[in-house]
Amino acid sequence: MLKIEDPSCFWVTMKGCGPYIVDEIEYKNLNAEMNQFYDKSCENVDEVKPVTLEKGQICVVFSEELKCWCRAVIKSIMYCAGHYQTECFLVDYAKYTIVKTKDVRVAMKAFMQIPYRAKKCRLHCTKPVTLRVNFCEDTAKIVPAQRWDNAATQYFQSLLKATTQIKAKLCAVEDNTFDVILYVTIKDEKVCINDDLVSKNFARFVETEEDTGSPAKDQENQTSLNVESFPVKIIDPTLAFRPVLFEEKVPMNLETGRNHVFQKQSNRQYELTREKFLGPTFTESYCWPPVARGCDVVAISHQGNDPFLYIPPVLTFLQSGSCYKALPNRNGPLALILCPGWKKAQLVFELLKTYGRCSRQLHPMLIILGQNKEEAKRVKIQGCDVIVTTPYSFLRLYEHNCLLFCRLCHLVFDEIEVLFSEATEQVFTILDCYKKTIITEEWEYLPHQIIAVGTHWNKHTARLIKEFMNDPYVVITAMEEASIYGNVHQVVQHCVSSQRTAILLKMLDFTPNHLQKVLVFTDSVDEVEMALKSNSIFALKIHKEKEFNFTYVLEHWTKSYASGNHVVLVLTDDCMQFLGITDASCVIHFSFPSSPRIFGQRLYNMSDNFHNESSVDQEHTKARSVVLLTENNICHALGILRYLKRAKAEIPLELHDFTARVLEAEEEKKFARPLCTYLKAFGICKNRTVCPDRHQINLQIDMLQNMPDKITQTSGCVTILPLHIVNATNYFGRIVDKQQDRYTTLAEEINEYFKETSNKIPIKKAEKLALYGLCEETLFHRVQVVETPPKEENLFFNVKIKYIDEGRTRQVQSSQLLHLPARFQHLPPQAVEFIVCRVKPIDNEIEWNPKVTHYIHHKIKGKPHEAKIVLALGNTLWIDPMVRVTRLSDLKMYVNEYSVRSEILSTGLGTDNPEHVTQLQKTKYDQKAPRTTGILF
Ligand SMILES: [Zn+2]
Repeated sequence: MLKIEDPSCFWVTMKGCGPYIVDEIEYKNLNAEMNQFYDKSCENVDEVKPVTLEKGQICVVFSEELKCWCRAVIKSIMYCAGHYQTECFLVDYAKYTIVKTKDVRVAMKAFMQIPYRAKKCRLHCTKPVTLRVNFCEDTAKIVPAQRWDNAATQYFQSLLKATTQIKAKLCAVEDNTFDVILYVTIKDEKVCINDDLVSKNFARFVETEEDTGSPAKDQENQTSLNVESFPVKIIDPTLAFRPVLFEEKVPMNLETGRNHVFQKQSNRQYELTREKFLGPTFTESYCWPPVARGCDVVAISHQGNDPFLYIPPVLTFLQSGSCYKALPNRNGPLALILCPGWKKAQLVFELLKTYGRCSRQLHPMLIILGQNKEEAKRVKIQGCDVIVTTPYSFLRLYEHNCLLFCRLCHLVFDEIEVLFSEATEQVFTILDCYKKTIITEEWEYLPHQIIAVGTHWNKHTARLIKEFMNDPYVVITAMEEASIYGNVHQVVQHCVSSQRTAILLKMLDFTPNHLQKVLVFTDSVDEVEMALKSNSIFALKIHKEKEFNFTYVLEHWTKSYASGNHVVLVLTDDCMQFLGITDASCVIHFSFPSSPRIFGQRLYNMSDNFHNESSVDQEHTKARSVVLLTENNICHALGILRYLKRAKAEIPLELHDFTARVLEAEEEKKFARPLCTYLKAFGICKNRTVCPDRHQINLQIDMLQNMPDKITQTSGCVTILPLHIVNATNYFGRIVDKQQDRYTTLAEEINEYFKETSNKIPIKKAEKLALYGLCEETLFHRVQVVETPPKEENLFFNVKIKYIDEGRTRQVQSSQLLHLPARFQHLPPQAVEFIVCRVKPIDNEIEWNPKVTHYIHHKIKGKPHEAKIVLALGNTLWIDPMVRVTRLSDLKMYVNEYSVRSEILSTGLGTDNPEHVTQLQKTKYDQKAPRTTGILF
């Protein structure tokens, strides 16, 4: 491999035999003869000097770099600094060189007998593609392209660099270019580069129109390429994420440093492509460069909870070990990633492991700590460069490890708005500690960076920027969030639809010293125009039915304002993106926006007038948005109202009732949904507004099912047998009847029955909801088919089944199901759901840490426990307490071995939840009682 420009243009030398191949020794001989000849000819220069020179001419020139005479083709001639220069391409070395015109020699025929050693190649049938980003839809597509992307070329180069052997299959020759299929060997694995580029979405496969019938085709055409004699020269290694900020402070050889980073980068790219990564999204393309340069960044986007917004560029920055050389030589992380909960932290940690593994070892650590002090003391952070954790866990660790900040350069907040709402105090404590460290003198030349990503702008984010960041990049791609950031003044006018025009005119009451550029969004442009005309207000208008005349409208929009007049433009939503207005001072929503996204786009027309608190300056025109809310907008008002509340709009009192009604209507629509699991488990659901499930107990729907009669008759004390552990406080199992355990008898009978081989009758077709027998290890169970695949292809398709006496579900092959005689089907399903009350996860988490679930699983599964029922609904029992009672065999005495709730609390991962059952009972829906409205927003 001599030189690589891109996959459609690279130069190689070929080994082996074939019509185009010349032995390496012949070249050596040629070289020697040629050098002897031209060295000698110095005396009679004129004889070997060409009379004329032109582009494309073949000649011989002396290469200063190679210190020898070389065959060359003239690429260009230019006049420079008083003499003519020619740019030549050395045809045996695939190198460009510049020589003075007077130093060019005639190519003697004798030296032109053998072919050029450098062969120009391109990948056979492999054509470039590119990523086309649609900014409006926030989507990215791969489309055919004329040129190769840098990413594709870099990937191609990286493959060739990593290879130990290159083989090429010659497919065609056209215009002195060889079409080849390249096979490389990387770590003992043979890879076809042509196929690899296509499969990684760097290229597309294009069939040739006609077979060129190359003679090479029919021959033994595996040709080895000479790979060892020349180093690969990288043309323009555009390093998208290369940290440049500290370059001047890095005294080492820049060139090697660059290649080093490049190598790491391409490895990650390889990892990215392996995972079918199509390229950065719209937000990522804005976010990654400043993050990779080490700047402070805030990114708010609809995809703001995706850790990919920061992981690749942060990893890239962390590669440049030299940036950190001045740090104290101690233990402590370079980067801290704070996530809102253990689950997210785990995800981020997994991603770091995946994408960090081809680089400098960063030894990321996932730290989730409970309230047990011993646990925090045991944590060792030696050699760890990146910590992924939650604010609570981090502060617990900090209590025992005061060195956590001594090397901390990068502080990342994942889902910033959730962090701020669930752990405000903790986040600011961490920020304060970080600030104290980095204001010291020795930090002046060290990287220090805060990154915050999320989906919502919030007032704490403004404080974060103002007090802790240094000239940050604020990337907001969610337009409605941009308007909160930009302090748009939100006005909500509640009115009946017939009053809308009157309100509009009131809003347009222009005062002469306050010029306005107003956009009125409406579904019926004519209605608004008429109203304005009758009040002698001139307005521009544009809508889809009318022929679009953007130039005219835009011209007047700018002109009349410049001449000191108010300007009003009446338009429909579909015209907005074509106009691209950003300097409106007021937006009136005459027609209600159909979604928060459209609402955001409308507001974006005022983006020039967005001013953040940190840059508050009374001189600015304040952007204003006026929403006209009528009785017709009820169905999509909720989302917008929730948004307006965040935007600190003053919501008229009557609208509170209105939203309460909307919320109630929303909740009523969910009557067929199951009762929300969070509501059941902890008494509240934090995401009520987006949670699809029901949040109201309805005694008609939630009446008891499959419960033994005795439950309701006794004092509520039962013996339970947990068999399937969902999490620390939620299990499925059976109630054991102490007098007459009918299920145990049945189970014995079933197992006895299936012992007989002739009784094991496989079923022909699995029917949904039907009961069957299933053997698991040595025991037979009653199971019910709950889901069948849409199409039955053969007998071996998978069905989802439920163990009706235990409560767990599983996928099995339908051929495993056995016919279950009717007499075994009479006893109702035994599985009951149990919920242990008055305990919830620490740190405002909504899901149990797997550690505590695991612990409880091993403690209780399959063992009888005594429990007192405090609430029973549907197939669920709430129990408090749940204790394990054992009998001391010698004495006739029973002792409480443990209580499940106390066991959970003792892990340090659970905390008291005294309101659990009372909260839950509050949601009881009673038709006679007056409605109580829940939390509105
Ligand atoms: Zn819910």
